[in-house]
Amino acid sequence: MTGGQTVGSAEPRIVVISGPSGTGKTTVVRRLIETAPVAIVKAVTATTRAPRPGEADGRDYHFLSPDDFFRSQTEGRFLETAEVFGTGTWYGTPRSEVERAQRLQAWSLLEIDVRGALKVKRQFEDTVMIFLRAASAEDYERRLRQRATETDEAIRSRLDRMREELRYADRYEFQVINDDVERAVAEIGGILRQREAERNA
Ligand code: 5GP
Repeated sequence: MTGGQTVGSAEPRIVVISGPSGTGKTTVVRRLIETAPVAIVKAVTATTRAPRPGEADGRDYHFLSPDDFFRSQTEGRFLETAEVFGTGTWYGTPRSEVERAQRLQAWSLLEIDVRGALKVKRQFEDTVMIFLRAASAEDYERRLRQRATETDEAIRSRLDRMREELRYADRYEFQVINDDVERAVAEIGGILRQREAERNA
């Protein structure tokens, strides 16, 4: 084991859910936390972007200044970091979040981008990797445009990002189609229950 030693003696149970903006990822993650058949805690990750209306520090993200973010990075406090939109916006998963879930003997759910996901998988090879897809390409754009907080430029950048993320889909163990939230959530729950049974066997 490599990075496992930095978090605890046993390899933490981690599930990563990635997928382009506009897949309904946030809703699926929320429902999964509410209904999952295994103990699971969503990691609150850190970002240098500004909060959107309605977002709270410490609940939706740890909103950090670039200085604080890079200091934490230098101090080795992140499991992974990524500059997600190539526009100077950084995101990172605090190690402390995974440790928190471990203390609760729960899965850590990381809703992070594809490059960050692969970095986690390299450190913890048992990480369950789930790529969430919208039912169709039109769905992505429609959902993105409904999100009134985004400017046209931000939407364009997210659509570019979507195309990039889709190129990584094959690297994921599971691809789940979000044609129906409850069905997708049940599918992910089933994957976790099975993996937990395998680990306990
Ligand atoms: P948003 O700014 O819309 O909340 O999130 C943008 C993207 O950043 C999403 O794809 C989300 O999964 C990803 N993201 C959020 N937190 C992290 C993190 O800690 N690390 C990485 N690599 N990506 C993250």
